[in-house]
Amino acid sequence: MRRTLIAGNWKMNGSLAANSALLAELKAGMAGQSCDVLVCAPAVYLAQCAESLAGSGISWGAQDVSMHAAGAYTGEISATMLNDFACKYVILGHSERRAYHHESNELVAQKTLRALAAGILPIVCVGETLEQRELGQTEAVVSAQLQAVLNVLDDAALAKIVVAYEPVWAIGTGKTATPQMAQDVHAVLRAQLAVRSDEVAQKVQILYGGSMKPENARELLAMVDIDGGLIGGAALKSVDFLAIINAV
Ligand code: PGA
Repeated sequence: MRRTLIAGNWKMNGSLAANSALLAELKAGMAGQSCDVLVCAPAVYLAQCAESLAGSGISWGAQDVSMHAAGAYTGEISATMLNDFACKYVILGHSERRAYHHESNELVAQKTLRALAAGILPIVCVGETLEQRELGQTEAVVSAQLQAVLNVLDDAALAKIVVAYEPVWAIGTGKTATPQMAQDVHAVLRAQLAVRSDEVAQKVQILYGGSMKPENARELLAMVDIDGGLIGGAALKSVDFLAIINAV
């Protein structure tokens, strides 16, 4: 049985003061929930998350990592640096990084290797644009994105990743994929994993992301292949994020 993971992606939002209030509200709202809960903060706030969340039952993680181990890569942050702040997870290949920072499928695969080598669990994001969906390319696009990662991992490593299906047209737009639309793509991704190993496919959590909110979380999370959510906007308000956690 796969555990449900509710992950917040704060993106480039927050401040010491705002985070402090949000984290305190989240901690106060945790009451023996059955799912795993995670917040992925901007790197400069990971120390704050580590200090605030240690022992709380809420995990913290980063939103990106360098593909390089160390060295002359100005502005980059390495996986071993994330380890210094006890990050459990790192989001990789988010569509905003693919679009605005030109991250290729192969680069995302290299970052996945780097995270795993440091013992950090990668949340690998895949998803199609509206144009690709309308052209009937959804399956081909998400499968190619996942395949690049599959190509560099053995089964043991593959069993450790989390996949997040995030249709680009649903991110931050208020448009959510219907539960069935999301389930259909999740099933494609799980079948692709099963080609490698049935056992691994049954283990890997596949999250849905894209305008998940309290009003639609329950229906989405009820789908057989949807194992959690990657939540942007609604993760910035404790009432909304807690409501999603409580919808599990
Ligand atoms: P959203 O973002 O919930 O604001 O649509 C999700 C994401 O980009 O991870």
